[in-house]
Amino acid sequence: MTKPFSIAIHGGAGTIVAEQMSAELKVELLADLERSVRAGHQVLIDSGDALDAVVAAVQVLEDSEHFNAGKGSVLSHHEIVEMDASVMHGRERQAGSVAGLRHIRNPVSLARDVLRDSDHVMLIGEGAEQFAFDHGHLFTEQDYFLTERRYQQLLSMREKGLYALSESKYPDDNKYGTVGAVALDKHGNLAAATSTGGITNKKYGRVGDSAVIGAGTFAQNGNVAISTTGMGEFFIRQSVAVDVAARMRYLQEDLVTACNTIIDGELKTMGGEGGLIGINGQGDIHFAMNSSGMYRAGIDKYGTLSVKIYADE
Ligand code: ASP
Repeated sequence: MTKPFSIAIHGGAGTIVAEQMSAELKVELLADLERSVRAGHQVLIDSGDALDAVVAAVQVLEDSEHFNAGKGSVLSHHEIVEMDASVMHGRERQAGSVAGLRHIRNPVSLARDVLRDSDHVMLIGEGAEQFAFDHGHLFTEQDYFLTERRYQQLLSMREKGLYALSESKYPDDNKYGTVGAVALDKHGNLAAATSTGGITNKKYGRVGDSAVIGAGTFAQNGNVAISTTGMGEFFIRQSVAVDVAARMRYLQEDLVTACNTIIDGELKTMGGEGGLIGINGQGDIHFAMNSSGMYRAGIDKYGTLSVKIYADE
């Protein structure tokens, strides 16, 4: 019998308002989520590595303007897209992370290059972009990333002096639209990837949890792979991803208990809204959220596809 393999993805958690979701938009979102999870799953079917699977899945969402990563990223206070991403491979716990990127089309693949081809874990800003160009990434103009929807969001947030999403014109304007993936491959490797434009109206080179190994992304073979979404400041302070892994490792908690304990417990008490996806060493998938929704999809170890939006689905 072949070893189990499975994959789960998310396109961000938060308040997603069903009444504002047109049938047309819902179809497009669900299609993107399915394409993403299938892209990653195909890598696993072909006996590829879990890291390549999560990168393949995340790239699909980075290329869609519906999600806050790559194209369609939110805008900073100065009307610039600045993206963060990270990846982790669970075998030797190698990791790669990039932050403050302005001209790289697929930040998640750059994070993988940092993991594979650099002596470092985390590269930021111009240095990260120089590394990218040295490793074959092309310069991408800001225009590629910009969308009218994100511009309008910024205008409304800037006017109110807010930096988190707070009013809804789009069904998920109150949502943190970061994307991520976790996978278990046939060789027993766990991997996780997360990619984001961060939060609207951010200033001063703000970096969120999506670039922080242990907060937004974590993977450890035989234990768990995690990718998170939500207001990054809380996720960093709570070290959410590694906290789930530690509960499973040291307390022997199962995946569901460990994820829900953090998301519905301390994180929520602190005021941190959001969610995460996890896969354990047996290939079981769990989606946890304390918000009304999280764009998400999975293909479990039996090959069953699920694509969902709302918490109560
Ligand atoms: N976690 C991301 C950040 O704070 C936002 C998100 O999940 O959409 O940068």
